[in-house]
Amino acid sequence: LEHKEEFEHSSLAVDVMRPRRSDPALAGLYCISQALVESTRYSGFPVVVSQESQRLVGFVLRRDLLISIENALQRQEGVVSASRVVFTEHTPSQAPDGPPPLRLRGIMDLSPFTVTDHTPMDITVDIFRKLGLRQCLVTHNGRLLGIITKKDILKHMAQIANRDPDSILFN
Ligand code: ADP
Repeated sequence: LEHKEEFEHSSLAVDVMRPRRSDPALAGLYCISQALVESTRYSGFPVVVSQESQRLVGFVLRRDLLISIENALQRQEGVVSASRVVFTEHTPSQAPDGPPPLRLRGIMDLSPFTVTDHTPMDITVDIFRKLGLRQCLVTHNGRLLGIITKKDILKHMAQIANRDPDSILFN
């Protein structure tokens, strides 16, 4: 995000974040499995208190998750690839005959950068630039709503640049 690419537009974080308005809400994780990490290509995953509350507790990088799961599979007694990986102190209820959960609180970033859904994008872009962020989470009253990556911003800027300036002003 070069400094010369000014962002003089009235978009809000909610307009740029994923998922889009028409998509299902972003499900924050409270637990995960190796299969789920491997079935998606996202660079990271937001972690929430519980599926019901969607209150944000942190962010884990895909790379760190895969390394830690791999290590635990080799070194930790009882951990199998079906083990649930948990990040919060309160383990979600576990099937009695299931494998013990793998606790990975240590790899979670407990203070991921967030903006609220109504943060103007010029401020969000400034935060990305100044802090060199790759991604930022979007919340509303502490609940996780979405995620914005640097690429999402660049795509949004490109979209605006190709549009008729009048439609930008009046839509
Ligand atoms: P990039 O945007 O650099 O390709 P990602 O691969 O992490 O980074 O994200 C790809 C797309 O998916 C982006 O549009 C992003 O907003 C979205 N995204 C990122 N992480 C998640 C996630 N955990 N759940 C849902 N969507 C995500």
